[in-house]
Amino acid sequence: MKIQNYINGEFLPPVADRWIENYNPAIGEVYGQIPDSTKEDVEKAVEAAEKAFPSWSNTTLTRRSEILSKIADLIKEKLTFLAESESKDNGKPVSLATQIDIPRAASNFQFFANAITQFSSEAHESVGLNAVNFTLRQPIGVVGCISPWNLPLYLFTWKIAPAIAAGNCVIAKPSEVTPMTAYLLAEITKDAGLPKGVLNIVHGLGTSTGQAIVEHKKIKAISFTGGTTTGAHIARVAAPMFKKLSLELGGKNPNIIFADCDYDKMLETTVRSSFANQGQICLCGSRIFVEEKIYEKFKKDFVQKVSELKVGNPLEESTNIGALVSKEHLEKVKSYIDIAENEGGKILFGGDRIAVKGSENGYYLQPTIIEVASNQCRLNQEEIFGPVVTIMPFKTDEEALQLANDVKYGLSATLWTNNLNRTLQFSKQLHVGIVWVNTWLMRDLRTPFGGQKESGIGREGGFEALRFLQNLKIYV
Ligand code: NAD
Repeated sequence: MKIQNYINGEFLPPVADRWIENYNPAIGEVYGQIPDSTKEDVEKAVEAAEKAFPSWSNTTLTRRSEILSKIADLIKEKLTFLAESESKDNGKPVSLATQIDIPRAASNFQFFANAITQFSSEAHESVGLNAVNFTLRQPIGVVGCISPWNLPLYLFTWKIAPAIAAGNCVIAKPSEVTPMTAYLLAEITKDAGLPKGVLNIVHGLGTSTGQAIVEHKKIKAISFTGGTTTGAHIARVAAPMFKKLSLELGGKNPNIIFADCDYDKMLETTVRSSFANQGQICLCGSRIFVEEKIYEKFKKDFVQKVSELKVGNPLEESTNIGALVSKEHLEKVKSYIDIAENEGGKILFGGDRIAVKGSENGYYLQPTIIEVASNQCRLNQEEIFGPVVTIMPFKTDEEALQLANDVKYGLSATLWTNNLNRTLQFSKQLHVGIVWVNTWLMRDLRTPFGGQKESGIGREGGFEALRFLQNLKIYV
């Protein structure tokens, strides 16, 4: 199957007629091709977006809201097909795509369909001066949205929905590793009545297609989610053009477990926060720190629970852990297991590839637990982004806090304790964008999302996304 670009309301092959192979990671085989788009394709998309902008930015909020709601409805109608397509493209369990990825994609559109009708410019009366100051928020124009492969439609829509709700026209690029649901979304937006040119989807490699989007002078803002190295590169390219940038980058999140927590809930959630989506979620708690008093018990129970997870064909409902997204990624993750062995880490569980019956060439890896002696090892300092977690004990609150913060990333942290004072202290002192206390991955769509340190700049979600995607002007 050949995926096409979606430009000016039409499905088009890339100008240069060059194509990239698309793999099904569950079986390790090519199942389609995607455009290897060049600057020329991006140029066509920008022209279409510029042309559509005057009309779209003047479209009433009610109409924009209706179209976004319709897109949400169509995503829900096609839930099963989209979930199966996502699973095939990415290797994630179809159950996860059905319960999380695709419903969230619909919610992203529904949320911003509502939010845009409640978002407003402001007015401040200068009392005694006979003046009113208007703070006007206006769409930016043409904006770029670039997303990663781990939560393909979920994160693609997380950017596109607020961008078009805010009145912008969009040039969007999904990851070349997982292009399928972005392609399917194009048809859905067309059916929902989104005017041509408002959303343009250009497929291709980061270093060529993505680079062309970031370099394009007429694209005034970039919303990017992906790796920290890529984010730093994008910032360097965009800075001389003074583009607005929102960068949601990597994480190496601590999961801090105190003896006074609700143990059973912690254990069950920690299995999920370690290995959901094969550990390929930027918010996974990949560094587990456990209070010494319960360390040995936790170790035993955690290994037992993880050994019960079923690694297998993502299309089977009973599968807990599917395939990693690509051969390259599998090799990268596996290389960290080798590093662990050299660094003196002790593998408590997993560490090996798995041959799934009937899919022997698929990219499967056992969920892996490694005991480390120091937070300074590469396993604790570098983002692995796979089904690999480390564990180590701590004695005091001060030590736990120091370990948690001693890393270049600052995306999220999870804290397990029933001590209120400790909760308040840690929540204030952890250098991250989100702290989960006695839970994980729970977030109201109205809240601002983003990281500190090398996990990124800017906030997306709720009104923060709309603020980022509009320009401000004051007039008096
Ligand atoms: P990546 O940085 O390799 O690629 C992300 C996107 O950027 C892809 O579409 C890619 O084609 C594009 N890209 C690559 N080079 C580019 C360039 N020079 N110019 C423009 N675009 C370019 O990341 P990935 O491997 O797809 O995703 C995994 C990473 O994403 C992990 O580091 C993970 O932590 C991060 N992530 C962060 C969040 C968050 O919200 N903070 C969420 C999900 C994933």
